[in-house]
Amino acid sequence: MDILFFVVIVFSLCWGSFLNVVAFRTITDRPFFETRSSCIFCNKIIAWYDNIPVLSWILLNRRCRYCRKKISILYPFIEILTAILITALFYKIFAHGFYLNSIFSFFVHFIFFSALIIAVRTDLQDLVIPQAFSIWLVPLGLISAHLGFLKISFNQSLFGAIIGYGILWLVAFLFKFFTKKEGLGTGDMEIMALIGSFIGPLGVWITILIGSLTGLFIGGSYLLIAKKDQSEKIPFGPFLVLGAVVYFFFKYYFIYYSIPF
Ligand SMILES: [Zn+2]
Repeated sequence: MDILFFVVIVFSLCWGSFLNVVAFRTITDRPFFETRSSCIFCNKIIAWYDNIPVLSWILLNRRCRYCRKKISILYPFIEILTAILITALFYKIFAHGFYLNSIFSFFVHFIFFSALIIAVRTDLQDLVIPQAFSIWLVPLGLISAHLGFLKISFNQSLFGAIIGYGILWLVAFLFKFFTKKEGLGTGDMEIMALIGSFIGPLGVWITILIGSLTGLFIGGSYLLIAKKDQSEKIPFGPFLVLGAVVYFFFKYYFIYYSIPF
């Protein structure tokens, strides 16, 4: 196997492990800069050999070594998701070699993707998306677009952020107006603003389309199969992230096959 590929995979698995910790500590009251990770049930410090991404979870049979309580499947899921996305990002950005501009481009997309992954975890776990990893990063998208690190212009980045937030706000407003119930959370609007600032207005439309269709299909199937109440809340963030990532990696197909030249 290519040594570079191996290094990128291992690094991104470990990065995924770190994102798990950041996401978890952000939505719980745990001290953020506590150095060592400990079991959330029995508080025993987790040894390094029990903290290897994915592998430890399998070897420990999904349980804490000491108290035998179950470790959430979100841990290996986020680690594998990070490995796939960051490796794909690495090879997409550096497809034509290592230039100064592509290094900056990789760096800002790396932050963007990390924020999306944290949002997936916090939304799946607690139905929240922290502002620090969504709307607060919109300026990074705007600046990156302005400096030429993204494939979109500053104006496209700005419009992307505004319509990303605006469309979901409008949908939420109409939904509440007609049903008197909360449909979308502000977290969904804020993550859409971030997505829009990085992939622009067309990216926003396609993200919302893919997010809604997969959310409807997968969320609906889940409610049916798990025999849940229809009023059960389904996190929308992960589906929006899915849409954004699909557009990011395959935008050529959406653009080339969609627009009549
Ligand atoms: Zn434990």
